[in-house]
Amino acid sequence: MATEKKHIYFFGGGKADGTGTMKDLLGGKGAGLAEMTNAGVPVPPGFTITTEVCNLFYELGRQVPGGLDNGMREYMKKIEDALDGKFKFGDLDRPLLVSVRSGSKFSMPGMMDTVLNLGLNDNTIQGLIRMSGNERFAWDAYRRFIQMFGNVVMGIEKEVFEHIIHEMKKKKKVKLDLELTAGDLKGLVDRFKAKVKQVARRDFPQDPWEQLTMSRDAVFGSWNNPRAITYRKLNDIPGNLGTAVNIQAMVFGNMGDTSATGVGFTRNPSTGAKEFYGEYLTNAQGEDVVAGTRTPHPIADLDKEMPAVYRQLREITSRLERHYRDIQDFEFTVQDGTLYMLQTRTGKRTAHAAVKIAVDMVAEGLINKEEAVLRVEPASLDQLLHPIIDPKAKIEVIAKGLPASPGAASGRVVFTADEAVRQAKKGKVILVRPETTPDDIHGMDAAEGILTARGGMTSHAAVVARGMGKPCVAGCEAIWVDPKAGKFGAGKHRVKMGDYITLDGGTGRVILGKVPTVESTVSGDFGTLMKWADEFRTLEVWANADIPRDAKVAMQYGAEGIGLCRTEHMFFAADRVPIVQQMIMSNSTEAREKALAKLLPMQRSDFKGLFETMNGLPVTIRLLDPPLHEFLPKREELMVEVAVMKVEKAPKASIAKKENILHRVEELHEFNPMLGLRGCRLGIIYPEITRMQARAIIEAACDLVKKGKKVKPEIMIPLVGISKELSNQKALIDATAQDVMKKKGVKVAYTIGTMIELPRAAFIADDIAKEAEFFSFGTNDLTQTAFGFSRDDAGMFINYYMDNNILEKDPFQTMDEKGVGGLVKMAIQKGRSTRPDLKIGICGEHGGDPASVEQCHRFGLNYVSCSPYRVPIARLAAAHAKLKEKGVGGSLSK
Ligand code: ADP
Ligand code: MG
Ligand code: MG
Repeated sequence: MATEKKHIYFFGGGKADGTGTMKDLLGGKGAGLAEMTNAGVPVPPGFTITTEVCNLFYELGRQVPGGLDNGMREYMKKIEDALDGKFKFGDLDRPLLVSVRSGSKFSMPGMMDTVLNLGLNDNTIQGLIRMSGNERFAWDAYRRFIQMFGNVVMGIEKEVFEHIIHEMKKKKKVKLDLELTAGDLKGLVDRFKAKVKQVARRDFPQDPWEQLTMSRDAVFGSWNNPRAITYRKLNDIPGNLGTAVNIQAMVFGNMGDTSATGVGFTRNPSTGAKEFYGEYLTNAQGEDVVAGTRTPHPIADLDKEMPAVYRQLREITSRLERHYRDIQDFEFTVQDGTLYMLQTRTGKRTAHAAVKIAVDMVAEGLINKEEAVLRVEPASLDQLLHPIIDPKAKIEVIAKGLPASPGAASGRVVFTADEAVRQAKKGKVILVRPETTPDDIHGMDAAEGILTARGGMTSHAAVVARGMGKPCVAGCEAIWVDPKAGKFGAGKHRVKMGDYITLDGGTGRVILGKVPTVESTVSGDFGTLMKWADEFRTLEVWANADIPRDAKVAMQYGAEGIGLCRTEHMFFAADRVPIVQQMIMSNSTEAREKALAKLLPMQRSDFKGLFETMNGLPVTIRLLDPPLHEFLPKREELMVEVAVMKVEKAPKASIAKKENILHRVEELHEFNPMLGLRGCRLGIIYPEITRMQARAIIEAACDLVKKGKKVKPEIMIPLVGISKELSNQKALIDATAQDVMKKKGVKVAYTIGTMIELPRAAFIADDIAKEAEFFSFGTNDLTQTAFGFSRDDAGMFINYYMDNNILEKDPFQTMDEKGVGGLVKMAIQKGRSTRPDLKIGICGEHGGDPASVEQCHRFGLNYVSCSPYRVPIARLAAAHAKLKEKGVGGSLSK
């Protein structure tokens, strides 16, 4: 027979069965209580029922394993012993009261709330009154117990009880709970019990053991309530961890003016400053401090009210911080002048604070640089990289919503997506909607920021805004939006279409008027941390940048090259589109070449700007990639225009001109343009395009080299799937380059490589590498073609897939390691088998996603290339990848 598993762990009297490292089994709270007990910190005794029991509970069809109840009686006895037998659970004279607290490995707000004062009933209350000599306190404890138990275990709405309290206060003409007398509280207890019977159709349980087992089962049951499941999904917490149950002797912060309860942090969790930070309330219990019914006092006041307790609290919490070597978030209660610690855990912090604390702790000798680098989540740097509200500005906050996407933005208010597009032509706009839908995308794209009244952190608005890197305040319930009337309201304020507002997506603030913002920089502690990250990482970080301005930003953020310059973005400029259209409309090579000749000097100066900015670092230029119709007006629009012109009897010649364009658009129409005439196919069908681009690149390079500047052009051929496609284009480029260099009388070193973005290219990578001097994985297209998902149409079913566990992650956000990653690995191996020094990078969106960056490191890529604002994120992610590979542990708590 297998030995019985230990299901219950005791803590108390200076010794615990468990330790702080047992978070999986005891949950974060239980492990913390054990660790504090072992460290000699005053903690009320108790026991933890393990997470394994939770999993058994579900295996057995919502039943605890046999023997657990007996075990609990045995451990309850241990609590009583630890209290020198002064109290007994259920005893009429000296009742022991306990709290029942949930607690899984990661703290989870979705789970059961704590039940305090358990063990009270109509008889034991008399014992508590006699023992404490404080009738008011005892009735207060009982009414709280019925309230909490009634709500979290029996499922009765909180408001039901709040309403009864409200009525009582009205009747007694008082404002605060504290002003209710013992008699009033006793009256509340009677009313609560009557209400419980009415709503739950049973009496409030009087038997302490029944109270206890019901609470325990409610904790286990709460592991799978919808709130908890949603929270786990959002935070990537596995569903099979289970929760522990902590049962702990009560201490009372509500025994009068020498008692108190409070919470705090060992450092400021918002700024990271090394200052004791917290709040407390005298004569209060449990979560009164955070409930907002009374305004708590700053912790500094405790120094005046209870100096000895304050000193002891400082001493204990500093010790805990040193012990855990990280900022602690703690809870304490003072019972009649005696301090008890009830919880300690790693404090959640903003990205700002995380960086400062990590750097400070290295200076304090608490952690080393490697640990410091691992303490900061790469993705969280996003908060530090968007423009921020000028800290010196005077602002008027009119509402607060969810901080859905960081950054600050000011603009004029618009209420529809179409209006956003129209108004954005004249100036910056903020789109305000009750909520957004996929139909609003164009408006979101045009807006500087998005504000919604409804929807959470994962609502459409929030997700899309984060994707676009735009500030967003979502779920701002404090406002009402009336798009028809063209206004929204926040309290006494009315904001009309065209009025200015400012959003602070990092805090959720909605601010009246235009507020000055400042660019964030990588300096101070942030700069220090990034320097350390650079020391550790081996993967290079380049940036995707099309114009010198973006390249400058990328350089400021530490990019080591440009991994993708999309030349078509240069074609879209207002002064160029007509020339590009002229080129497309041409029906002979000569006519096309004429148009291209006009584009040549423009492209040349673009490239010059990029080369100069990058000052000798590699600049990877991708030749024209998108289908040509993207440069022409839409077919439907043209058809309408032609029809209108005919009705209005416009001059024949101009109608003919329009019809001509329509005709060409119809010729170019493709059912599936993403798989049509695009990529290198363009340069093969229209070699003059490739020649012009190659000429522009090499001429720009030659001109700069002549001036003594350093340049490093890398010419990249897109969408190659057949080796001969590459050799075809390469021959054109080489011939052009030779010609240019001969004419200019200088030589420049350039390389020619290819994108790997088709599964076939990955399969024949050994062949392709004979011609290609570098590979760059275009993982957007590679994901589309590997899955057969169109990125523009897949949103709907990908979300369904993720909700229904068909896909774990959106493969367009995090590289699909098995499939797409498998192709990448194969292509690397095959490519390097031909050309061992083949340089390999990635330039899809994944280049800035920390989890994908880690994959790239493991696959042995030379660099990742991402948008300029993600460069620091990728640098830090690359350092994490290397440190994890080296086995440096870094515990980041969720
Ligand atoms: P959460 O997980 O929401 O933080 P907790 O289990 O920590 O919930 O409990 C909520 C509140 O109840 C805390 O303020 C805590 O200090 C208080 N509390 C829990 N157990 C006890 C106890 N045995 N004695 C006094 N207060 C307690
Ligand atoms: Mg809670
Ligand atoms: Mg707590």
